[in-house]
Order: sequence, then structure tokens, then C-alpha cells
Amino acid sequence: MEIACLDLEGVLVPEIWINFAKKTGIDALKATTRDIPDYDVLMKQRLRILDEHGLGLNEIQEVIADMGPMDGALEFVDWLRERFQVVILSDTFYEFAQPLMRQLRWPTLMCHKLEVAPNGRIVDYKLRQKDPKRQAVKAFHALNYRCIAAGDSYNDTTMLGEAEVGILFKAPQNVISEFPQFPSVTTYEDLKKEFIKGSIREISL
Ligand SMILES: [Mg+2]
Repeated sequence: MEIACLDLEGVLVPEIWINFAKKTGIDALKATTRDIPDYDVLMKQRLRILDEHGLGLNEIQEVIADMGPMDGALEFVDWLRERFQVVILSDTFYEFAQPLMRQLRWPTLMCHKLEVAPNGRIVDYKLRQKDPKRQAVKAFHALNYRCIAAGDSYNDTTMLGEAEVGILFKAPQNVISEFPQFPSVTTYEDLKKEFIKGSIREISL
């Protein structure tokens, strides 16, 4: 059997923090790991800014629900789920992804978790493990699954390398140039073709 491993942000839904910053007008939330490479420092800063603006989980989920998946994402996931077991491997948090996963009809998601107080305040966050996307593919291999993975960024490249087939989707040019071993496509139609090409089964469009 084959599992299709998909990144979430930048592949099926917009970048959550960047769009959240735009929707709320809080510029300080636009910082990413490109600005602050230490993820722990970055997350602590984000949680502090949310606190300062009085934004708890409810308010945040309302804003995120407004984002919606990318055009064509739902159709693509439906297509993929008829042909593969689909698992989404993401570095986001369940609580942030929830409003978007509802719109994608709840495919399986493996990501991280927030600690939320009863009043909705986000107190802390828990990363599930180190290098989680790659570890998931390794675990699927231990279960005798073959993996085809697609992602758009640096945090996907260990997953793409671990999988039997890795595909870059809508990746920035620097990632495409640094990882020429992975085919790179920009539309869901072409991504479908790469999954068909990568499969060892006869699959039709
Ligand atoms: Mg991504």
C-alpha cells in the first residue's frame, strides 16, 4: 500500500501565521523562521504578541476559519484520497489547523499541540517530536507502507528525502535550486501527475 504524505501550509492552505498577521494587521506576527531561526524563541514571541492583543484561541480560530484552503485544494485532496491513504504532516498546531481541516473534510493530520487555559489563553505549546515529518515517514516504512510526499519548504525536505518519492509543490526558487533531486510543480493538475508517476500501481487521472 502507498501513503501520500502532504505538507499543509503552502500546499493546501495559506501560511497560517503570515495570513493571520495580515488579517489582524499585527505586523509583528509576520516574523518567520527566516527572521528568527530559533523556533522556540519565535513561538514564545508569537504567544507573547497574542497575549498583548488579548487574542485567545477562540478569536484566533475565527480569523483562521476565514482564510479557507487554497483554490482547488479540496478537490485535490478528494482526488488523492480515492487513490492513496492520505496523511497530512505539518509543523502547525491542531488548534490552529482545525478550522481549515474542517473545510478539507478532516483528513488525518499529524502536527503539534497547544496548551490552552480554560479562558482560551494560549499558555504554551508542545512539539510532538524532533524532525516529525521524517519520523512519520520512517514509521510508515516500518509498517511496510511506501510513501510519496509533497511539500513546499525547508521543513519538508527531510520528509521528501525519506520518502520513496519526494515532490516540491509551489516551492520558492531557493528551495528548488538547493534540492534539484526533487521534481518541482506548481499546479494541482501537475501534482496529480507526479503522484501517478511516483506510484507503483496503475492509477488514472
Ligand atoms: Mg509548507
